[in-house]
Amino acid sequence: MSTENTRPTRVRIAPSPTGDPHVGTAYIGLLNYIFANQRGGQFVLRIEDTDRTRFVATSEQEIFDSLHWLGLHWNEGPDVGGPYGPYRQSERTEIYREHVEILLANGSAYRSFETAEELEALRKAQLAAKLPPRYNGAHRELTQTQIDAYLAEGRPYVVRLKVPIEGETTFRDELRGDVKFSHNNVDDQVLMKSDGFPTYHLANVVDDHLMHITDVIRAEEWISSTPKHVLLYKAFGWELPKFWHMPLLRNLDKSKISKRKNPVSLIYYRQAGFLPQAMLNFLGLMGGGMPAGGKIDPATGEADKSVQAEIFTLPLMLEQFAFDKISLGGPVFDLVKLKWLNGEYLRALTPESFLTQLKTVLFSDDYLAKIAPLVQTRIETLGQFGDLADFFFRDDVTPSAEVFVPKKRTLEETLTFSVDQLAALEAADWTPEGLDAALRTVGEAKQWSVKENFMLLRAILTGRTTSPPLLESLIVFGKARSLDRVRRFVDTQKKLATQKR
Ligand code: GLU
Repeated sequence: MSTENTRPTRVRIAPSPTGDPHVGTAYIGLLNYIFANQRGGQFVLRIEDTDRTRFVATSEQEIFDSLHWLGLHWNEGPDVGGPYGPYRQSERTEIYREHVEILLANGSAYRSFETAEELEALRKAQLAAKLPPRYNGAHRELTQTQIDAYLAEGRPYVVRLKVPIEGETTFRDELRGDVKFSHNNVDDQVLMKSDGFPTYHLANVVDDHLMHITDVIRAEEWISSTPKHVLLYKAFGWELPKFWHMPLLRNLDKSKISKRKNPVSLIYYRQAGFLPQAMLNFLGLMGGGMPAGGKIDPATGEADKSVQAEIFTLPLMLEQFAFDKISLGGPVFDLVKLKWLNGEYLRALTPESFLTQLKTVLFSDDYLAKIAPLVQTRIETLGQFGDLADFFFRDDVTPSAEVFVPKKRTLEETLTFSVDQLAALEAADWTPEGLDAALRTVGEAKQWSVKENFMLLRAILTGRTTSPPLLESLIVFGKARSLDRVRRFVDTQKKLATQKR
């Protein structure tokens, strides 16, 4: 009997806490959750936080909260524990170090002592010669004496994987069949950085093995990493998991989903009033694994294309989702469709639950308590509350050019600057001081006065020229929705501009 039938199914998602929780994490999370549950297996959540330069402290908790909001729960993870922990890679560095030693000892990895400057010079030379930049393997065969000398000098080094010079690595992708990569195209991947932290590749493989993962179900963008992983499994002498690379979510124009074209933060969807069940349903449509998007007519064998066929809950997905039906054509993350679905779910609520949703999301005590002080100093009757605070409760505020273009500016200049504002806001620390600094910096760089700068953003956020204090309003409205509002403004104006041409 082959071992693959005897290993109980264990899958994982391995998000990196580098920012807002991403819709892609929810999509891959859902697929893993279904896969595990259909097979009576275990679903693990591992936090891949070894890239300290991109680490965001609040991100991990937000990932947990967003996935729980969607109704996805894991059997093992940093928050719930489990037999193969710790489940946070930053707490496993000793394990990776020990494993690097194994690879160094058996000759499948080597120390590479070049300085950053030397590597940069190499890269430049390759680019100038129109060659793809890659490590030239100079330290693959250092003698032990040379290695000892460098070590004695205290020279920093990285550890690289010794990829065979010739031949190819073939692995099976469960959705694509055999995938081949010529070793010519596989770099001697860094496994451990000079600071002693592992790279994604090493940590990912070591953990998948030690956590007994049987099926690696992840996004297609990782497929080019898989040959390196396969070489690592072989170098350790470990059994390979099965690999399933899921088609990437795409923008309407078929490019890889991006924040320039779609909101990608789960926080946005939650705060903007999408229901978790609609979101899950939508993500379940993405893989194409539901039978023709719903049900097949038993009489004709044809897909039932009626509206209802696209609406299904998590229990139905657990019952019907078929991994062998997944289509590799990039699923389009179509917001219009998501909104339509969400509308279906909202309309299906009883009036009481609908009211509860409104009170939970839009009219929560917490939200109102933050808005009230912003308008209290300007109000004459309670009835004016809506006049002053309407933008906090609206999805669409579209200021006209008369409102948003400052007196001495052209429409074009203004639009260009709003793109700069968007970039500045994205990078800003979401506090009044952080926002103030970010806006002032971009204003100075582009020679926009503070007045013009704030006026434009006020118009974009509120649709008007006067409003409660801008920075506080941005804080209360929240980063995810504020960025979406500015992004949509930029988008709408660009569309209008091209129509005029
Ligand atoms: N840390 C990777 C990510 O952020 C995990 C990729 C994988 O599943 O191997 O998505």
